[in-house]
Amino acid sequence: MRLVTYEARGVRGVGVVIDDRIVETGFTDMLELIGGGPVVLEGVRSSIESCPTVEDARILAPIPRPHLIVFHSINFPSIVEETAGCEPPTRSSWFSKLPTSIIGPGDAIRKPFQDTHLDWEVELAIVIGKACSRASAEDALDYVFGYTVVNDISARDIQIEGGDIMLGKGADTFCPMGPAIVTSDEIPDPARLSVSTYLNGERVQHDSLAHMYYSVGENLAALTRLVTLQPGDIVTTGTPGGIGMNMKPPRWLVPGDVSDVEADVIGRISNPVIPGW
Ligand code: MG
Repeated sequence: MRLVTYEARGVRGVGVVIDDRIVETGFTDMLELIGGGPVVLEGVRSSIESCPTVEDARILAPIPRPHLIVFHSINFPSIVEETAGCEPPTRSSWFSKLPTSIIGPGDAIRKPFQDTHLDWEVELAIVIGKACSRASAEDALDYVFGYTVVNDISARDIQIEGGDIMLGKGADTFCPMGPAIVTSDEIPDPARLSVSTYLNGERVQHDSLAHMYYSVGENLAALTRLVTLQPGDIVTTGTPGGIGMNMKPPRWLVPGDVSDVEADVIGRISNPVIPGW
């Protein structure tokens, strides 16, 4: 199933996308639907045909305010190869992005200062379906509700030169997410997906998740060794090569640019860049 959060006539809801329609599920909050577990999900699935179509819906981020959103650091050979001084990782490593950074499809990414070095990073995002602690790599996919796509927008000057990863990656609007959560039954093997970024329509990032150093299962095993994840929490998989920082000369996002990220099966979101604050 392809699940979206939408707003229609000022009211928020959770819908299922069927062809080019969105149908109501009766839920107003994706976290509530996910937290209901498999029984609730099956109830939604079995009643879809009789649910009304939503008119004039605007698609929002599928989970506009998750409790936890954890990002993987270096996880692709293609980014190690293009980044000066970057060595292949010897273990999974992580940082947390602020939930207040999330925006939806079409929302503007704000460039905070005129001299900010604003960069893009497409990542697959794993949406957790049930409480998960000390999972093994082999059974970790059993805890996955579904998958979506995020753009790990990064102010490199704040993140790297300033040494502040939380503000450099966690500022308002720095986490476009969407367009939908595709449930895990439709993506049995996430390693078969590819992810891409487009800058003003030109493809700048593209790689297969089969190339990751650490698979989705290995990532979740490493993280849940020390952290208990809950339904609706989000964990990303790292970004491949092709970021603006590594272009020669570097290419930063500026007002007027449009940054798109996409993944197979899940789809594409597009976000314009505007001057901030
Ligand atoms: Mg990243």
